[in-house]
Amino acid sequence: SFDEFQFKRGIVTVSEDGVPSVKIQSSIEKIKVVTGWEKYKNLEQPFQGGYFNSGFSKDVFLGRFKNKDVAIAQLNKKHDEERNLEDLLQELKLIKLGQYFMNSFYNRVNQDGALASFLLNGFFMVILNTAMKWNVDDMFLGQVLSGEDIQRRPNENGSLTWPDFIVYAKLPDNGKFRKFSGFFEVQNNKDRMGEWVDAFGHHVVLDSAFTLCIVDLQGWVISKDDTLILFDPQANRQVLCFKMFGVWDDGMRGIESYMEQHECNTICEALGL
Ligand SMILES: [Zn+2]
Repeated sequence: SFDEFQFKRGIVTVSEDGVPSVKIQSSIEKIKVVTGWEKYKNLEQPFQGGYFNSGFSKDVFLGRFKNKDVAIAQLNKKHDEERNLEDLLQELKLIKLGQYFMNSFYNRVNQDGALASFLLNGFFMVILNTAMKWNVDDMFLGQVLSGEDIQRRPNENGSLTWPDFIVYAKLPDNGKFRKFSGFFEVQNNKDRMGEWVDAFGHHVVLDSAFTLCIVDLQGWVISKDDTLILFDPQANRQVLCFKMFGVWDDGMRGIESYMEQHECNTICEALGL
């Protein structure tokens, strides 16, 4: 069963020069949130009973918005309301930035058909394209109206844990989870999808003029059409270099360490990174 909440929506935008901001809309909307998902979390049964999965500090579970299934993300109960909102805002901004740099990455790829073919060690190579994106479509922040009842029932029958939540599009069923880089090391993947992800990582460092790197890249691979949906960049935010907003102090050190470990692959070379 579901609880229903009234909420206001916050939309994140990124300006032309890459600065994100959030705007809360005035209209009031309704969303349904599954109850009792926590039972399945405690039983460690992901994708059962409306419970999807949990990350480092976050839970993801089922919601229904405008008659469509969606994924709802919040911090787990170990945190508090204030920390939850702070974290969700960081995550929304970071994912939006990720997509901003994904767009500039594909602009680079498409420039003059640079990747249609290129010469490697005297061999003429054709490099096949992939489709990577962040899970930004239909993504927004929800803020339950004050006075609405947020249930934190001890018998695991609750729905929302905190008044603020993120709504994401539900990932397609035919995909598979994959991690492309670890906590502290760059993986330098050898397969095609992995090389594309690593080249994107390198591109972010260059295109942000050494102010940003996303070390921990993970997502949902749909192999039949070479698609990758990236998500949850905040799971390991202590190793995310994110100097642009002064959030993490050793941003520059992290970026240097990333560049030392990264080995340019064929995609990097084709793009002239
Ligand atoms: Zn490279």
